[in-house]
Amino acid sequence: MPKEFFEQRERTLLGERYETLYSAPSKTAARGVTVNLLRCTPEWFADHAGLSVSPSPFCSAGLLIEDPAVKLGRHPYHHAGAFYSQEPSASAPATMLDVQPGMKVLDLCAAPGGKSSQLAAALGGEGLLVSNEYDGGRAVILRQNLERMGVANAVVLNETPARIAVALPGFFDRVLVDAPCSGEGMFRKEPQALAQHGPGLVAQCAALGSEILDAAAACLAPSGVLVYSTCTFAPEEDEGQVGAFLARHPEFELLPWPDRFGSPGEANRCGEYPFEAEKTRRIWPCQGGEGHFMAKLRKAAPEETGKTVRVKPAKAAKPNAAWQAFAGEYFPQLAGLPTMQLEDMVLLMPEGMPALKLHVLRAGVMAGTVQKNRFVPAHHLFTAFGGGCTNREELTLADARTQAWLRGEEIEACTAHSGWCCVTVDGMPLSGGKVSGGKVKNHLPKALRNLG
Ligand code: SAM
Repeated sequence: MPKEFFEQRERTLLGERYETLYSAPSKTAARGVTVNLLRCTPEWFADHAGLSVSPSPFCSAGLLIEDPAVKLGRHPYHHAGAFYSQEPSASAPATMLDVQPGMKVLDLCAAPGGKSSQLAAALGGEGLLVSNEYDGGRAVILRQNLERMGVANAVVLNETPARIAVALPGFFDRVLVDAPCSGEGMFRKEPQALAQHGPGLVAQCAALGSEILDAAAACLAPSGVLVYSTCTFAPEEDEGQVGAFLARHPEFELLPWPDRFGSPGEANRCGEYPFEAEKTRRIWPCQGGEGHFMAKLRKAAPEETGKTVRVKPAKAAKPNAAWQAFAGEYFPQLAGLPTMQLEDMVLLMPEGMPALKLHVLRAGVMAGTVQKNRFVPAHHLFTAFGGGCTNREELTLADARTQAWLRGEEIEACTAHSGWCCVTVDGMPLSGGKVSGGKVKNHLPKALRNLG
């Protein structure tokens, strides 16, 4: 039944174009990586990673992976946060937000974090990224992924979009809504997406998407830009959703999507609120990737939307002596930065951090803990700032010690002296370590090791 419902609807809407648009170029699901620009360029990655790759049409940092069997999650550059494994067309929406360093950016439906890591890279470490995930378990995965990618200026929330809208009205320059959807673009990659599909799911997702969009609209500052995306083809969640949003929110205008990939949105999918659907964008299976829909909207300028609301900034803690001493020795560039303290934990506060009464999983960088007046660094400190650590054990991809380190073994110290150090691969941080007697003791968290 799910397949019939989908096929019948699409054949009716597309007519003869159905066969062509849904004919994927390959039998296996498309695979790609998005290179983390906080770590390296796509050109450097293509030259050094030892993988067979080609450029992606959807994003300048994206690369298509040609070998379907390669285990990307075990690659040392994955551990070093140099890339995020992402279905190629999924990298398109984040690029269209035009995020610039210094902006305040909200990703409302962020886990597992592919698009958030692109937004963090576009910020280049300046400004604030608030990455929210509604599902608690997925929010933890989001936090771990942003940590692996070395993101220092993110706040990870586990909240409802409505509560964020109440806490941070008009706060953000950019908002991304990558909505929970009926997943018609996932049928090939995740067979259960097809099994769960049907008209009820489409209606439920359309209603949820519209609630999330209303919260996104409230969070956006005047003149701010909102990108809405789904990985489904269902009209009610795509063009129909955008048409209904524009009808509810006359303060928004639809911006055109550049003609770099995919095809224009379709007028016969707008439902009861017709609009310029050709300004939205679709990626059909025949165009590479698994399928995506996206729209870009701008909120009216301040004079049209009325006064803006001021949100209180968070207060920094008094400098902690144990942290100051540790930072002075290993991370001198961080010693003067504002910190927050929660029980024994020291966090490096992101720029422009607002005071929040929300469920926060991480704010900025978890620098470490103070134990009996001594500072013990956390993994996040090394992933975020390890390249600038004064003591480094510098490995390369070809060095046998790299694989040994990722298995959790102790390795010989060649470039680092006694004390805490950051272990790097080709200049990118893997984790902390502690040198004693010519050996580096392994501090890569057990859950992140390449075992088996
Ligand atoms: N943007 C993510 C990425 O690039 O990795 C993928 C997001 S996925 C398409 C949609 C997310 O919305 C899921 O993680 C899902 O748990 C979350 N979600 C589910 N119900 C939600 C709700 N009521 N409000 C907000 N998000 C919700």
